[in-house]
Amino acid sequence: MITQLGSISFSECADSRWDCVVIGAGCAGAVAARELARANLRVLLVDKAQFPRYKVCGCCIGRPVQNALERIGLGSLLQQEGAVATRKFDVRAGRLHATVPLPEYMVLSRERLDAALVREAVASGASFLSGTQASLDAVHDETRTLTLRKDDRVCRVQASIVIVADGLGSRLLRATDDFDSRQSAGARIGMGAVSVAAPTDYRPGTIYMACAKAGYVGACRREDGRLVLAAACDGAHVKGSGGLSQSVARILDVAGYPSIPDLHEIAWKGTPALTRSATIVSAHRAFVLGDAAGYVEPFTGEGMKWAIESAIALAPIARDAAVRYEARYEQDWIAARQRVVTQRTALCRMLAASLRYPALVKTALRVLSVAPVAAEPFVRSLNAPTPAQKEVVL
Ligand SMILES: Cc1cc2nc3c(=O)[nH]c(=O)nc-3n(C[C@H](O)[C@H](O)[C@H](O)COP(=O)(O)OP(=O)(O)OC[C@H]3O[C@@H](n4cnc5c(N)ncnc54)[C@H](O)[C@@H]3O)c2cc1C
Repeated sequence: MITQLGSISFSECADSRWDCVVIGAGCAGAVAARELARANLRVLLVDKAQFPRYKVCGCCIGRPVQNALERIGLGSLLQQEGAVATRKFDVRAGRLHATVPLPEYMVLSRERLDAALVREAVASGASFLSGTQASLDAVHDETRTLTLRKDDRVCRVQASIVIVADGLGSRLLRATDDFDSRQSAGARIGMGAVSVAAPTDYRPGTIYMACAKAGYVGACRREDGRLVLAAACDGAHVKGSGGLSQSVARILDVAGYPSIPDLHEIAWKGTPALTRSATIVSAHRAFVLGDAAGYVEPFTGEGMKWAIESAIALAPIARDAAVRYEARYEQDWIAARQRVVTQRTALCRMLAASLRYPALVKTALRVLSVAPVAAEPFVRSLNAPTPAQKEVVL
């Protein structure tokens, strides 16, 4: 359905010339494409997956994402798509248990959220090709050239600028001389799946989090009632347990959560190492955005916030760069991304690191079980207005 909405066919793309090609239609790429289309640029958004598509993600959306969507005129999108209001955080480790109240979280499947953002990009004038893999070719003074592949068809397109938003561990960057993507030592791997047979103990409106030394597993009910599972685990634990679902089952069990009957039958998807960064985030006529530019572990569930806020921050820079390119825009993007994302990842890094110390986790749970209010400063900090809210919106 979305392919038709894209208003362009693969064959029409051959030898076409664009102001901007955005590679990857996750929340970062779709929002960037929409903002640039609204600025009257000719924008092509491509994704190798057929949309709507599943993506490994906890699907938890905090207040900053809702604020960011409001700032670009999409304040009602989450409600329209049926996002589930989620107000509790239930955390367990080593059979200890605490429940913490949450302010204004929402849960929405990535199939629904990302498809809705693509639809908004197309409604603003962007062209969209799904099921189309892009690769970066030659760099010229005046353009970037890309190759697009769909099934057995291949074509070339040119763009004044390219936005690389192809997600975690960006293969595009690793295949290009300009860039590289490096993982941090000890980085965990991500994994996710959706259960259709989880017991009713997992209620809508609560985020469940099982913590163990080897990793953590998050679970919550999405808009269709299914239980979305997302985890970050040590590679050695996955190997030693015999696979992704076995590793998740062990962590849920050790933490004291009820078992999930279809856990070993459902399709599990893994990710590359989670904590990583691109060596550079901009080069001649190319800007790296979202997880492709770098990511830290998902414990605080802020990836979509960083992706969407940075897409909004990139839009005015990318617009000016597409119209009349100057090398200074590469520095502008490095500085903007630093303000919007890099400075904000410290809390997430700290919390994720502390989870590797079971004694610390147990002490925190003992405190939280009698005084849930002790979590308030952290929760407030995650939901506090971010510097991104001062950035210019196109
Ligand atoms: C286990 C786990 C749990 C998480 N939980 C949460 C959470 O609860 N809340 C939260 O906010 N964040 C969470 N995140 C983080 C969040 O999922 C990401 O930060 C977010 O999806 C980043 O968006 P993106 O647009 O940069 O990348 P993506 O959403 O990954 O999109 C990249 C897109 O690029 C496409 N692509 C790749 N290569 C090509 C190519 N060559 N050509 C064309 N298309 C291509 C892919 O198909 C994909 O659609 C979690 C992440 C993990 C791993």
